[in-house]
Amino acid sequence: MSGGMETGRQRLERARAEVERQIAALAAELADVMAAARSANADDEHDPEGATIGFERAQVAALLAGAQRRLAEFDDALLRFDVDTYGVCESCGLPISAERLAVLPSVRTCLACARRR
Ligand SMILES: [Zn+2]
Repeated sequence: MSGGMETGRQRLERARAEVERQIAALAAELADVMAAARSANADDEHDPEGATIGFERAQVAALLAGAQRRLAEFDDALLRFDVDTYGVCESCGLPISAERLAVLPSVRTCLACARRR
């Protein structure tokens, strides 16, 4: 980072890039697990390894789905930046605190509204 104050948009873009890296890593991991599953099945379909691989595959797939969901949230937050509704609570219309946005850059509601839900 080049020092100084990071803007909300820069923070969002950095968080988005981080999620993109996670997705690439998880997709590669999933491909490895799938390849392992294929070779285990090829050797012996009653291989007890099969259950372990299936569990691992489900776990990696769930992590990947979660990361893709976060990516969509960041894309959405960046769009809100473009139309100037970023940082505005979509429930009550009041500004979301800078502290809350620092921790949750893609959050859509203020703390008060989030607590009411
Ligand atoms: Zn609110």
